[in-house]
Amino acid sequence: MTFDVIVIGSGQAGVPLATRLAAAGRRVLIAERGDFGGTCVNTGCTPTKTMMASARAAHVARTSDRLGVHAKQVEVDFAAIVKRKDEIVRRWSEGVGHRLEADHLTVARGHARFVGERKVEVAGEIHEAKDIVINVGARPVVPPTDGLASVPSLDNATVMQLRELPSHLLVLGGGYIGCEFGQMFRRFGARVTILDHHQHLLSREDPEISAALEEVFRKEGIDLELGAKAASVSGRAGEISLRLAGGKELRGSHLLVAAGRRPNTDDLGCEKAGVALDGKGIVVTDDEYRTSAPGIHAVGDVTGGPQFTHTSWDDHRLLFDILLGRSRKGRRGRFVPYTVFTDPQVAGVGLSERQAREGNVAFEAATMPFGNIARAIEVDETAGVMKVLIDPKTERVLGAAIVGAEAGELIHIFVTLMQAGASARAIVDAEFVHPTFSEGVQSLVMKLERFSLR
Ligand SMILES: Cc1cc2nc3c(=O)[nH]c(=O)nc-3n(C[C@H](O)[C@H](O)[C@H](O)COP(=O)(O)OP(=O)(O)OC[C@H]3O[C@@H](n4cnc5c(N)ncnc54)[C@H](O)[C@@H]3O)c2cc1C
Repeated sequence: MTFDVIVIGSGQAGVPLATRLAAAGRRVLIAERGDFGGTCVNTGCTPTKTMMASARAAHVARTSDRLGVHAKQVEVDFAAIVKRKDEIVRRWSEGVGHRLEADHLTVARGHARFVGERKVEVAGEIHEAKDIVINVGARPVVPPTDGLASVPSLDNATVMQLRELPSHLLVLGGGYIGCEFGQMFRRFGARVTILDHHQHLLSREDPEISAALEEVFRKEGIDLELGAKAASVSGRAGEISLRLAGGKELRGSHLLVAAGRRPNTDDLGCEKAGVALDGKGIVVTDDEYRTSAPGIHAVGDVTGGPQFTHTSWDDHRLLFDILLGRSRKGRRGRFVPYTVFTDPQVAGVGLSERQAREGNVAFEAATMPFGNIARAIEVDETAGVMKVLIDPKTERVLGAAIVGAEAGELIHIFVTLMQAGASARAIVDAEFVHPTFSEGVQSLVMKLERFSLR
């Protein structure tokens, strides 16, 4: 059949794009081979944050003595936690399915692949459109570690299908996915070892940011093997052995591989449509999401990075205007904040100090322990650190990173300021409510010599 637009993938960009285009009168086909809603809803944000809420409840109950409240016995019902997660995910995914029941919108269930220029085959039928949008997302990478392919291992999807708590979870990868799962399973009661070949967890962060999280993890009894390369894996279900390059052996009951993600383009037939991929399978796009093939755009994780739900959603917002000829703004110069939903959270936006130095960008920086904040002391959530970088000439914020309670909320103070192109002085001049964590953001900015109240 012929449509105005074909969207491949019902991810975080695909669904709002398809529904809004259909509402604008375009005849749209959306193809989905799996569950509606993509990674975020089914195997990413929603299930992890749902399960982490249980992990935090267990932690708060276990450590409530520090607040003078004595919880007699804390019991984690892992099966109940997984059931709650499954129900929430099902509701979300079904909700996405209902959203797609719209006028002008046709849903094709099945694997879609290009069979020619602007031609896509789904479930044996060939469809054509003037505009095609690729939103196929990404999946976990399996690193080429010796023996890994022949040993039972878990990924972000299968680890959340377990019905029994692992006794000892080995986590290969100390990025955000490895950190979130590692702390979650530790708080459920498993022994956890996180291994990463970098010297720090969350290796893209400045060292003091990573170090603040590592301190918390170690205090919670998570074993960290950093600067350690996995040389080989062997064993069977329940008995996994991971040998490090130096010869040390780690033993665990389960292995979670969280070593990065690669785009779902291997079986998309991009070559048939003239859509160029880079060496990692990423669809090459310009700032307006154009691929190398006329009329074909790509959005979300498949375009490389940053790989976040809000980024994919924002891609849809910008591409929608481009497709309707309303604007050609594209994603150039946008700020992409992020949060690692560990406890404390790790959030950031803009440049890190390392990136500023590498790019020879002039900056002034201030850091402050999270424990300096009155509210943090009152609620006993003192772990963490805050950091800000400003441009000495314009006083604009170049970047910020926060490890601390509700860091994912606090970072938006900086995001909004950066988006507005405002001076960090606005934070000094604003009145902040006492006692809040946000007050700490003001105190942090006042640590910069030029904003000091001395
Ligand atoms: C464990 C985990 C936790 C995460 N937590 C967060 C978080 O807290 N916050 C955050 O912002 N991000 C988080 N992310 C990242 C986030 O999930 C992704 O960035 C987000 O889902 C963006 O997805 P997308 O729109 O590019 O595609 P996806 O959501 O991956 O959707 C792609 C869709 O395309 C379908 N598809 C693929 N190929 C085909 C084909 N050939 N034919 C038909 N359909 C196809 C897939 O089935 C899928 O439904 C997390 C990811 C993981 C793995």
